[in-house]
Amino acid sequence: MTTISPDRVLADLNRLRDFGRHKTGVHRPSLSTEHNAACHWFAGRMADAGLTPAIDGIGNVYGSAPGATRKLLTGSHLESQNYAGWLDGPLGVVYGLEAARVINGDPAFAGRGVDVGVWFDEEGHFGHFLGSRSFVDGLSDADIDSAVDRTSGRTLREALAAAGLADKPRTQVKPSDYIGYLEAHIEQGDWLEAKGLNLGIVTSIVGIWQFSVTFTGTQNHAGTTRMAIRRDAGLALTDLCGAIARRFPEVAGERTVWTTGRITLDPGAPSIIPGTAEMLFQIRDADLATLQRMEAALADLVAASDAAGPCRARYQALRKSMPAVMAPHMQAALADAATKHAGNRYTRMPSGAGHDAQILSKVMSAGMLFVPSIGGISHHWTENTSDADIVLGAQVFATACASLLREAEV
Ligand SMILES: [Zn+2]
Repeated sequence: MTTISPDRVLADLNRLRDFGRHKTGVHRPSLSTEHNAACHWFAGRMADAGLTPAIDGIGNVYGSAPGATRKLLTGSHLESQNYAGWLDGPLGVVYGLEAARVINGDPAFAGRGVDVGVWFDEEGHFGHFLGSRSFVDGLSDADIDSAVDRTSGRTLREALAAAGLADKPRTQVKPSDYIGYLEAHIEQGDWLEAKGLNLGIVTSIVGIWQFSVTFTGTQNHAGTTRMAIRRDAGLALTDLCGAIARRFPEVAGERTVWTTGRITLDPGAPSIIPGTAEMLFQIRDADLATLQRMEAALADLVAASDAAGPCRARYQALRKSMPAVMAPHMQAALADAATKHAGNRYTRMPSGAGHDAQILSKVMSAGMLFVPSIGGISHHWTENTSDADIVLGAQVFATACASLLREAEV
């Protein structure tokens, strides 16, 4: 029986809340003073737990189980969105640390162990999943050279140098060392709470497809240009938004979501008809065929707008991440552990948010566990989860880690 310490889990999470505390949440952007301090503190906790800690050249904090030849990898992140919540990221690394504490010293697991990774910049201050991509070898030096903090404008090279990491090598994974990767996270939605459940087992992580749609009309005087001859790019854009709102529900899957995240009118003045208009549009779903169907629907609507005139309409795909399926045997281990500790108070569900597990899943089996978010709120300082759910999740996570390692051959 692998039994966690509830007090230790809650104490570590509350201690991490002190690094960049903002109201009941935290403000801890990547490579900020507060983030660097949190990483160093956590490396110390790894050492206290018997792990061998190291911080590498991209800012990943890695705790390695000494003497283990067959290992389970766990992890998440320690930076936050700006002025955001205390559990998004820390929950996963503290669960991993607690699993390492209760498993690595146990003679029943001789030769086996739990490693813990704190992946740099999951929240995307400088880029997309820079830490986990670096770890799985999906990040080039050129990617680092071009990365800039989206809020402060500071370059990643400057920020790494200021943190004393400029000359450190980047650690890369040898997948054969691991039996797989398990990550825990807050749900960040209200699915579990709405269903009165305490745990979610992730089946797959959504693919995120991002597009820009551009309309070209004619910039002109807002007072003297007759309505009949206008080519108003802003009007064409908002018409497309209306068409999307009518058409997309007919082709969407049960949990497909789409968002117009930014609209830019040029020149954007009260007395000028916009000559160009651009929207950033995003579609998320865990099923590739659904994503393809949604893109086809967008293409049709843009083509129809272009054909109807009077403005030209074009769309372009900016970024497409593929849905990541969680390994069936990892899901099964989590489900067994959930049944053991929580009866039927769990469900299987896709993740609507991106996570480092989708990057790790490219090189090893991956699984994810969710705990409920109160009110479904995240990326905001009011983000929270009940202590009872935090503790239950930590226990289920450790039990699943133990059962996966028990099955592993040394
Ligand atoms: Zn997160």
